[in-house]
Amino acid sequence: MDNLDAYIDVKPEDAQEKIEQLRAEIERHTYLYYAQDEPEISDGAYDSLMRQLRQLEAEYPEYQDPNSPTMRVGGYVGEQFSPVTHQVKMYSLDNAMDLDELDEWMDKLVEEFGSLPPLMCELKIDGSSIALTYKDGNLIRAATRGDGTTGEDVTANMRTVRDVPLKLRVDHPGEIELRGEVYMPNSSFEALNKDAEKKFANPRNAAAGSLRQKDPSITQNRDLSTFIYAVADQQSFKSQEDLLNWLREAGFHVNPDVLLCDNKEQVKDFCKRAIDKRDRLPYEIDGVVVKVNNFAQQEEMGFTSRAPKWAIAFKFPPEEKATLLKDITVQVGRTGVLTPVAELEPVSLAGSIVSRATLHNLDEVRRKDVRIGDTVIVHKAGDIIPEVVGPVLSARPADAKVWNMPATCPSCGSAVVKDEDGVAIRCISIECPKQLNERIKHWVSRKALDIDGMGSEMVAMLIDTGRVRDVADLYTLTEDEIASLSRGRQNVEGEDIRVGHVIAKKIVAAIEESKTRSFARVLHGLGIRGVGENVAELLVDVYPTYELLSNASVEDLSSIEGVGPVLAENIVEFFTNPQNKDVIVRLRQSGLNFDDSAVVQDKDTSLEGNTFVLTGALSRPRPEYAQLLKDKGAKVAGSVSMKTTYVVAGEAAGSKLTKAQQLGLKILNEQQLLDLLNNLN
Ligand code: NAD
Repeated sequence: MDNLDAYIDVKPEDAQEKIEQLRAEIERHTYLYYAQDEPEISDGAYDSLMRQLRQLEAEYPEYQDPNSPTMRVGGYVGEQFSPVTHQVKMYSLDNAMDLDELDEWMDKLVEEFGSLPPLMCELKIDGSSIALTYKDGNLIRAATRGDGTTGEDVTANMRTVRDVPLKLRVDHPGEIELRGEVYMPNSSFEALNKDAEKKFANPRNAAAGSLRQKDPSITQNRDLSTFIYAVADQQSFKSQEDLLNWLREAGFHVNPDVLLCDNKEQVKDFCKRAIDKRDRLPYEIDGVVVKVNNFAQQEEMGFTSRAPKWAIAFKFPPEEKATLLKDITVQVGRTGVLTPVAELEPVSLAGSIVSRATLHNLDEVRRKDVRIGDTVIVHKAGDIIPEVVGPVLSARPADAKVWNMPATCPSCGSAVVKDEDGVAIRCISIECPKQLNERIKHWVSRKALDIDGMGSEMVAMLIDTGRVRDVADLYTLTEDEIASLSRGRQNVEGEDIRVGHVIAKKIVAAIEESKTRSFARVLHGLGIRGVGENVAELLVDVYPTYELLSNASVEDLSSIEGVGPVLAENIVEFFTNPQNKDVIVRLRQSGLNFDDSAVVQDKDTSLEGNTFVLTGALSRPRPEYAQLLKDKGAKVAGSVSMKTTYVVAGEAAGSKLTKAQQLGLKILNEQQLLDLLNNLN
């Protein structure tokens, strides 16, 4: 299976922002999934975001937060039900994304216990967690997992679920809380979705939505079922096997597909068989749960803040489906790349309906040999964007059409060019409207021209009115023009809500202020491919004015350390494009800064030629140190390599420090870094 979690290399100065972005993104999807039962992305994509966040939090422990989604049981407690405080917390599960990760988890068990303890394998039912409390044998309460600590009281609804015993079939004085999964069988899901106005994306969302109904008669008509597999207080049982037997006797629906294993191969075989039988089961499963069987051993291992250490969920590889490729259209991306997009007959895949999938580039279309009219296999490799795997050749119709990339940009009509890598085809016009939105957002962003008040809405309004067609147009805007922009909404009197003079005045001032930014930032803001903040500074150090830089040849530019021939060609090409030249002329006429010679002359370059990597917790935020180092001409990198000069190791420094030691690099503590910055050594 593909590794869903391509390692994300984030620069230290961007780490906090990236962590916060990921947290906000995950919170949004958690809400959509648990509270609205309307996920926007596949579970694989969600898991992948979660892993990226976990990786960054491990790398930057100073940004840890107990409220991070990685530290909590994901869930939601709605207001239409009474809250139930769980006496024993309801946990989530940690995941193994493939058999290798499952192997690693079992290796840890061997380390812990000396040999592999007996493991119970169960199917992972894709439904919603439920806790059922019985008092003297009678069902008295049913609660959802909620956020793990507090759930919602759904007793009235669960009483309507036919396989939930209202009375236990064995004697059990006092209270006992049993836990499991409430799910919707596939046939019931299909029948429900056929009639329903509001369609559910998958049986899991349908089950969760049906369970959390205000009117129990609706739940009753939704045909829910349960599988019960856990008990809150394990005192009176010896093992998971013992518990499952008791649950069967007590009248619960217990999944028959379980296997007690005493070696790794048996566990992995169970997982492989589960993948094979997945499509034949009358209900959805999304993996296998492997649990240490013995409760005493479970207790020894304990829990993290969100999951037991004694269990793991082996998640299935992404699903694949066949569907019709109706057409191939072209999308123009932020950097002008033309991407072929497969227009598909809608198909339900890994939790959502897929009707479009990227085909990446022309070479990929040729390599996969997909043609319009083909039946194609589609999968989601844990990415948000679904992918076409390839055609089903046996089903190819005689009139299947070979597709070709257009010679001009479908958005602006400019001729397109092939990238030097010979793969991507790109529109390099600075005036291309599709790229415009992203270009303007980039220009006004904090690290470029830093124009306050220019959020996405403002940028969209300016583009929609046709008033801004490139970044130079921003400098001709008047306060009146901005103030009169309509926000596209109306007030109670039915009048258009406009931006108004207070905000417009601030924006005009911010635009004016941006004229004081350095040439390096202007260069970064222009969005030349490959010219980020760091490269812009490298270029300006050698060619501090526009005249010097725009007259530099590919050879000149490639001789700068950190600028390769491909990047050099991009730069020359950018400055040769007539539309780009026109924008630059107008920016200069408006008073933007295209000359950093004074700054470059005065620059402290005492650390030039040195590359630093910052790791572990320091007493000040890492981005602050990174900036101080860059101000003295040093480079700051995100990962350790032979090119690294110094590794600055704060407290709890992890793998980067180990790697630095292995490579024999110079390692500094925080005080030594401060001394270096103050030119004390
Ligand atoms: P989870 O579904 O990965 O695993 C924990 C749950 O598995 C338990 O709470 C239990 O209800 C269930 N389970 C099923 N069979 C079981 C068995 N035999 N034994 C023990 N438990 C069993 O974790 P979660 O915290 O419930 O949900 C997180 C998952 O939900 C994510 O991994 C993601 O796949 C999905 N999710 C998706 C989105 C989205 O936007 N697509 C958003 C939030 C969560």
